[in-house]
Amino acid sequence: MRKEILILGGGYGGLLSALSARQHLTTEEAGITIINRVGSHQIITELHRLAAGNVAEKAVALPLAKLLKGKSINIVVGEVQTIDVEGKKVALNDGSSYRYDNLVLALGSETNYFGIPGLQENSLTLKSVSDANRVFNHVKDRVKAYATSKNKADATFVIGGGGLSGVELVGELADELPGICREYGVNFSDVSISLVEAMPTILPIFSPELIQRAVTSLESRGVEFLTGLAITEVNGNIVTLKDGRTIETNTLVWTGGVQGSPLVGNCGIEVNRGRATVNEFLQSTSHPEVSLAGDCAVVFATEGRPYPPTAQLAWQMGELVGANIAASYKGAAMGTFNPVFSGTLASLGRKDGIGVIGESGIVMKGSPASLMKKASNARYLSHINGLFSLAY
Ligand code: NAD
Repeated sequence: MRKEILILGGGYGGLLSALSARQHLTTEEAGITIINRVGSHQIITELHRLAAGNVAEKAVALPLAKLLKGKSINIVVGEVQTIDVEGKKVALNDGSSYRYDNLVLALGSETNYFGIPGLQENSLTLKSVSDANRVFNHVKDRVKAYATSKNKADATFVIGGGGLSGVELVGELADELPGICREYGVNFSDVSISLVEAMPTILPIFSPELIQRAVTSLESRGVEFLTGLAITEVNGNIVTLKDGRTIETNTLVWTGGVQGSPLVGNCGIEVNRGRATVNEFLQSTSHPEVSLAGDCAVVFATEGRPYPPTAQLAWQMGELVGANIAASYKGAAMGTFNPVFSGTLASLGRKDGIGVIGESGIVMKGSPASLMKKASNARYLSHINGLFSLAY
């Protein structure tokens, strides 16, 4: 009997699950439906560039309808409201509902505000194409306003959180703000760009040498680092830091952390700190007909530490999930999840970057790292395009 596979989320995990399932299953064997909040597959690893106006929206928001044309994968654009894992159905907030035989949860992560008073109400985020557009328009508006207001808060840009998201964003802003200032007749030396990080250093995943390389490069372009200083409160446009000092700013972008999708965390499957727990086949540990791909799941490495929620992990999870659902229908053996790490690259603006590549940990800096980051994006795009042509 024809099965129904329902995939929630059209990001890396969801898209790859759909393509991989369709590679292995004919339309007679299974219907495949992706439900996504927006009609595009968003290349969220490039959002920092969109937020600074350094890339066109069409390069980071790929229409799902175009990507999946002729591939017999249904696309529903809508907002998931409830997931009923006992009744095996999903309801959207427009009143429609969808039943399934197999469900793939690939709803990603959300910004974590850690309960910091006033933070959510008074900050911008960088989790989607619309967020990135909002940041870019806001930054331009503030510079434009400063040209006449001369209000220092309009020329003060604060990024909260010095992980990869915050550092990549600050690198782009440092490169693009001089041009935006010129456009509005503002002297760039009036502008202040600060990155606030609670820990003693930014990017602790890298070696001290690479961290220093990033700090020196960004400081030379005007970025001030406020490390060891958590943001403790935001009141309107006043940001308070752990040592009691305050910054008056009309632009705070919060990149201080993520948490698993609350929809997944609260749907009744087994979770660990809000992220779904999975077995070696990436099935929910409590509901095997539910598979997980991407940030909404937690996958533990053999030494017991959870893998970081990254695009490369989501992509690999999606591919295995699709293949395993097909294997379960055909009575074939399912594959176990053994992720391959290609490394970590951080861009530091248009032409600079740092990274550690491959299993052997080859260190990269400067334009080779920056080019490698662009190449890894191109590799992803060519990979999904290759799969589109392979799918039924
Ligand atoms: P993160 O959790 O990695 O970094 C958030 C940072 O904010 C941390 O350094 C934390 O100490 C800091 N912070 C938390 N609370 C704070 C406070 N009150 N005040 C100041 N600083 C505070 O989050 P992220 O950078 O959004 O990354 C999320 C995930 O996405 C990670 O797994 C990351 O590896 C991945 N990612 C990867 C890339 C890439 O590969 N280039 C880019 C972006 C994100």
